[in-house]
Amino acid sequence: MNTIAQRLAQIQARIRQAEQRYRREPGSVKLLAVSKTRPLADLQTLQALGQRCFAENYLQDALPKIAELGEQVEWHFIGPLQSNKTRPVAEHFHWLHSLERLKIARRLNQQRPADLPPLNVCIQVNISADPNKSGLAPEAIEPLAHEIAALPQLRLRGLMALPQRETLFERQRRPFRKLHELYQGLCQSGFKLDTLSMGMTNDLEAAIAEGSTLVRIGAGLFGPRK
Ligand SMILES: *Cc1c(COP(=O)(O)O)cnc(C)c1O
Repeated sequence: MNTIAQRLAQIQARIRQAEQRYRREPGSVKLLAVSKTRPLADLQTLQALGQRCFAENYLQDALPKIAELGEQVEWHFIGPLQSNKTRPVAEHFHWLHSLERLKIARRLNQQRPADLPPLNVCIQVNISADPNKSGLAPEAIEPLAHEIAALPQLRLRGLMALPQRETLFERQRRPFRKLHELYQGLCQSGFKLDTLSMGMTNDLEAAIAEGSTLVRIGAGLFGPRK
């Protein structure tokens, strides 16, 4: 049976090998531990091994963990966010990866405490154009990016996508390549971005090949979800 320490070493090795293989700068891909539904003890184990960035999808699940692990951790919110639930994200998280509505952006900007640095945000893109999936259509990204740029308590860092599951490597790469192109388009329009949030346990190599700067890993670190 794999322990969390063994899984962490395996994921770190996969990231390092992919960086090398696809000529990415060593250390340019950040590892985000997706700890949704996992018990606090597993997060503490990872934290003791040096993992600093954790991501959660559900607020009611996340807030007690944040209260326990506190300030040492960089907290990322990656789940769907309703407008009546923005305040705890504004107050307790460092990052939001799933921004897709101006109304939510405005509320977060208003609710972000003045003594905290701006909330880092990524716009989520529906890269597989799947009607059942969250995220903005490509043509809606730049207009939202301009609106976010006018909100002082938010800092737009990049784009995030959760493509359709694929098993073949070449098919995994396609949506990631598309997201990278959209990202480059924004950079050419003058946005100062540094984050492409793409890649999970099953497709992190394809994401790194296409320029991911941050992979979001759940099962690969904590084991299969029940
Ligand atoms: C659960 C989740 C992940 C992690 O997926 P794994 O396949 O367990 O690595 C990444 N991103 C989002 C948005 C998720 O909800």
